[in-house]
Amino acid sequence: MLLANKVCVITGAASRRGIGRATAKLFALHGGRAIILDLDAGQAQAAASELGEAHRGIACDVTDKDACVAAIQQVVGEFGRVDVLINNAGITQPLKFMDIAPANYDAVLDVNLRGTLYMSQAVIPHMREQRSGSIVCMSSVSAQRGGGIFGGPHYSAAKAGALGLAKAMAREMGPDGIRVNSVTPGLIQTDITGGKLTDELKVEILKGIPLNRLGDADDVARACLFLASDLSSYITGATIDVNGGMLI
Ligand code: NAD
Repeated sequence: MLLANKVCVITGAASRRGIGRATAKLFALHGGRAIILDLDAGQAQAAASELGEAHRGIACDVTDKDACVAAIQQVVGEFGRVDVLINNAGITQPLKFMDIAPANYDAVLDVNLRGTLYMSQAVIPHMREQRSGSIVCMSSVSAQRGGGIFGGPHYSAAKAGALGLAKAMAREMGPDGIRVNSVTPGLIQTDITGGKLTDELKVEILKGIPLNRLGDADDVARACLFLASDLSSYITGATIDVNGGMLI
């Protein structure tokens, strides 16, 4: 039981095939209490109740600072602590650079980057008081390659920003016993990618992946489990690539 009695908040975790949902499920299997945050209260609660009575689903738009603080207050009010935050909520927009309008830029940076700031600011005072905590930021191979297949340049920028923010948090919060790390998934089959992959495109993509398959949400969930648990107790400011070797 790697996460016995740990209270674990995962944002963007209601989507059925998503990385967040798979992470919540794996955390629950390892004894953690999964707190599923997502835009829709009904979906978040349904996802949590599928895992069992110990878990909770709370509506929270990560771009709304007050909503982030309120969600964490609710968690700490009920469970007395918060041990793990997975900043997973994200959106993509497959736009070319010159087609990015201000509203596109705002929307993608708001969810992927501002949400990471707001949620982390909401949990850190509690983690500081506990003198322990693990925060994981979901970045992307798009940040490292300067482009993804579905993301768009503003998505790359947001995910690269998340990497920098995570390292800065790791540096500042280390003395408080709080670890902050990032995960950079490659191409993972979820709703973000689902339905958009033709057979031809898939063959083309697989040429660049030494392990010769696309990732699934569980591949990423296992990296989150490692970073959330004490198995990684001397690791902070690190980035784990979960991409089948795409960057070799
Ligand atoms: P997904 O669409 O299945 O899940 C994203 C979730 O975020 C959804 O449940 C959605 O409702 C939620 N969300 C969106 N905006 C939100 C907001 N403002 N507040 C709260 N929740 C919000 O996508 P996924 O593929 O599981 O992606 C999860 C994370 O992994 C994202 O950050 C994504 O950018 C990242 N990622 C995915 C891939 C991939 O290939 N699927 C690759 C690299 C990185």
